[in-house]
Amino acid sequence: MQIVKQIERMRKIASDLRKKGTTIGFVPTLGALHEGHLSLIRKSVEMADQTIISIFVNRLQFDQEEDFKQYPQDITRDADLAKSEGVSYIFRPSSDQMYPSPFRTSVDVEEVTEAMCGRQRPEHFRGVATGCLKLFQIIHPHMTFFGQKDPQQAVLVRQMMRDLNLDIEMVLLPIVRMNDGLAYSSRNQYLSEDERSLAPILYQSLLTGKRLIEEGERNSEAVEEQIRVILQAKPSAVIDYVAIVDAGTLQEIDKLEGRVLMALAVQISKARLIDNMVLQIDRSKMRELPTLF
Ligand code: AMP
Repeated sequence: MQIVKQIERMRKIASDLRKKGTTIGFVPTLGALHEGHLSLIRKSVEMADQTIISIFVNRLQFDQEEDFKQYPQDITRDADLAKSEGVSYIFRPSSDQMYPSPFRTSVDVEEVTEAMCGRQRPEHFRGVATGCLKLFQIIHPHMTFFGQKDPQQAVLVRQMMRDLNLDIEMVLLPIVRMNDGLAYSSRNQYLSEDERSLAPILYQSLLTGKRLIEEGERNSEAVEEQIRVILQAKPSAVIDYVAIVDAGTLQEIDKLEGRVLMALAVQISKARLIDNMVLQIDRSKMRELPTLF
């Protein structure tokens, strides 16, 4: 396994692989790899001939300089993990290389970025789309692997790929959780022991929402309210948003029917944690789905 830092070298390696007929699977990450990332890597290793992952803390998608600078990084550990999973290359460009000054282009994906995380962080998804497009342009993978953990990101990247005719297959994989239900996240490292012990409240509140719908509730405001009640029982968990949206458009809905996404973001001290659940709701029945698509 090689760590590649130069854009031109990465471009050449990927282009040579393609010329040889080798299929490339690509997993974009911010690093600090955990079981969630590893599930994507394993799928890529299974489906593609060679797997490239990027470890790039994309400053354009951070709205606070502090969060960007303090984002956990451990390249030695990440490289060991990636190697043992069968990754061929880690692409790890510097921020200055990716965004040389002046940098004047950005990608806006409309509508699907408005609700949920886009409401509080309007710049965030522009940074995600721009960063992902640059990585795709450098690597030109055949397949790319994303996690349901960040559903809005997956939807907007898929939309961008369609709108801009990128010929890349996207594979979306389910959220990987710890035994107590907390979704793996690099930001979990920010939690103290006490904060960590209350973090499963995110998943528990989603389970409460799911149970209400199972029992027949079809008003999204009522379900959101109950989710908020559960979260508010822990004063150190500060709600950023609780939203129930249509799974296709990611726009908020009043009546629960069809494929919906229950999503939330909660700030626990330094860590902003997100979680979600996908539900298929018919008139009298409801079932949970592993991913949005
Ligand atoms: P990140 O490094 O946080 O930007 O995540 C890189 C990719 O890993 C994204 O597609 C995430 O959705 C995915 N991912 C992160 N955490 C998890 C998880 N717990 N389960 C599944 N996928 C995840």
